[in-house]
Amino acid sequence: MTAIHRIESTVGDTPVNAYVVEGERGVVAIDGTLTVSGGRSIRERIEAAGKPLAALLLTHAHPDHYGGAVEAVAGTDAAIIATAGVDDAIRRDDETKEGILRPMFGDEWPRERAFPTRRVEPGEELVFGDIELVVRDLGPGESPHDSIWFLGEDRATVFSGDQAYNHMHGYLADGHWESWLANIDRLASELPAGVTLLPGHGDRGGRELLDWQRSYVERFVAAVRGADWDDPERAAQAVAATMASFVERDDLRFLMELSIQPVAARLGLLPSEDS
Ligand SMILES: [Zn+2]
Repeated sequence: MTAIHRIESTVGDTPVNAYVVEGERGVVAIDGTLTVSGGRSIRERIEAAGKPLAALLLTHAHPDHYGGAVEAVAGTDAAIIATAGVDDAIRRDDETKEGILRPMFGDEWPRERAFPTRRVEPGEELVFGDIELVVRDLGPGESPHDSIWFLGEDRATVFSGDQAYNHMHGYLADGHWESWLANIDRLASELPAGVTLLPGHGDRGGRELLDWQRSYVERFVAAVRGADWDDPERAAQAVAATMASFVERDDLRFLMELSIQPVAARLGLLPSEDS
């Protein structure tokens, strides 16, 4: 019988989850949170279980999910495992993320990040004693490359990364919202009705989280499209206000705000430089 422990790090008002699956003889961690403190909390949870860490699996290519991994695996020889797409995107974008996150999080953003040490094929099954996990590779979506991990043979429990945040603001700045929506639709039709999603942000939930996320993404893109971009600052305020009225909590609002300009640019809505 396996147990699932959730580690929620809230450093810098950025709630993000990692999970520790505890088996009979060992543990497996899923994601690493953003920060030094978050990664250390994972490590402490593993130590509290008193069993060796077999591996740390990554769901997707965003720094709030891999940054703290270096601390989580510290002092162990556990592999950090991801699909090739997730691994490539992390390595490609890490320097850019350093430039963005260092000023925001200071020393909480680890000075050195750990990257995947082992790649898995799409659909590959990993067995660590009584812990079985299968990866579903999704490609671009919420991040430049997403995947999710199913726990156990019945596939009724999913470490779903950021496919669906649980009623929190989200990040669309990578610009792949069309593939994200397609991934959401695919998962909504494929996942069993009683599935439990263990998301990257917020409490666990069922398939309905995917429906909520679809509304959030559609509403965000419609708000950007509908704003008056002759005045970009006012347009951004209007989008932020629309989205704030859709989400009760203010958590992760900065992720949404960071997404407004990039999505407007991708939609060709920003006034050109020379006009
Ligand atoms: Zn995230």
